[in-house]
Amino acid sequence: MDYTLKCVNRSDLIFNTGLGSYLYTKDGDRYLDFIQGVATNVFGHCDKEIQNIIKDQSEKFFHISNYFRSEELEYASEKLSKLSINGKVFFVNSGAEAVETAIKTTRRYFYLKGNSQKYEIICLHNSFHGRTTGAISAQGNEKYLEGFEPRLPGFKHANLNDIDSVKKLITKNTAGIMLELIQGEGGLEICNKDFVLNIKEICKENDILLIFDEIQTGIGRTGRMFCFEHFEIQPDILTTAKGLGAGIPVGACVISSKIADCMTVGTHGSTFGGNPFATRVAGYVLNIVSNEKFLENVNKSGEKIKNIISEVKHQFPDIIDSERGLGLLLGIKLKEGYTPKDLMLSARKNKLLLAPCSANNTIRILPPLNIDSKVIEDFKEKLINSIFNMIDLQS
Ligand code: PLP
Repeated sequence: MDYTLKCVNRSDLIFNTGLGSYLYTKDGDRYLDFIQGVATNVFGHCDKEIQNIIKDQSEKFFHISNYFRSEELEYASEKLSKLSINGKVFFVNSGAEAVETAIKTTRRYFYLKGNSQKYEIICLHNSFHGRTTGAISAQGNEKYLEGFEPRLPGFKHANLNDIDSVKKLITKNTAGIMLELIQGEGGLEICNKDFVLNIKEICKENDILLIFDEIQTGIGRTGRMFCFEHFEIQPDILTTAKGLGAGIPVGACVISSKIADCMTVGTHGSTFGGNPFATRVAGYVLNIVSNEKFLENVNKSGEKIKNIISEVKHQFPDIIDSERGLGLLLGIKLKEGYTPKDLMLSARKNKLLLAPCSANNTIRILPPLNIDSKVIEDFKEKLINSIFNMIDLQS
């Protein structure tokens, strides 16, 4: 009897152990894991240093709550602040909670300025911000709202890279604009630099807060510490999670100093947010990933994988539409007639794990950020075999 709630689509595969880029079943079958907990395990499975941190912390204390100061929390907060927007940091347990923190901060900021009607947030169609009630109201894919409506009031949706569609939604009540600079779930669509620049201008002119959701794009995934560095535009509020814990559940919201004071004592909280395991690991992750050499390697590996996808596209021009993404947040867009699910299933038969996006007929490639050339070669072989296999299954 399986007592797990069936709201997620789990495969029958059961893994026993993992190491680096690979997962192993009890029978010893080895799978190349290019899902990595959906872009969380930035160092792959079972990183030795993270094991040591967790072991060491387990001998100090497990949890002390937010009633007390904590060296682990203060260290990780300072690191994250200095590596991002020099703001104040609130640690949470997941991406959606980081988004909730961003939404609450945006509304509270204008409330304290005496304008409680200024609470609307403009998001994008096909965006994804998580599964809490606030986050599904913010995200732009109707599928995630089905059965959970009504959407919470105050969320509007514009088209990606269409500045006029944003302008049309601006009113005196617009408090924030929230963007994923690359839509992860939404099929690895990238914002144009001009689009983001124009949005920044609109925010300045209309006293609107700019929020970047970097839950998937942050922590080195795109070859920079944060994706906003590619755009040379800073947000007022930044959310991040996933890679921040290298597989340990943690998220964070960074709030620029000019607005952070609106979150006064008692306005927000979290029992486990900021716990010492998560924040110690986050502090370590931030140190390693922010190293220039580490990020250089992310870019080099990303280029190698992109080249492989281009080669494979030449080999299978009727199947592969294009390679997508930046750094190691990569994807393959398939041509009509083939779905990400088709490729995911045939890849699984070839012991390669890939994650479909929920839009844009695209499958994601999410390796650890520290992969080496040998693993990339293994990926190439498995990808080609998976495509042959997919063709066989369709004919
Ligand atoms: N925002 C973005 C951009 C995401 O990609 C995700 C998760 O995929 C979330 C928010 C939600 O994060 P979590 O699943 O940790 O709540």
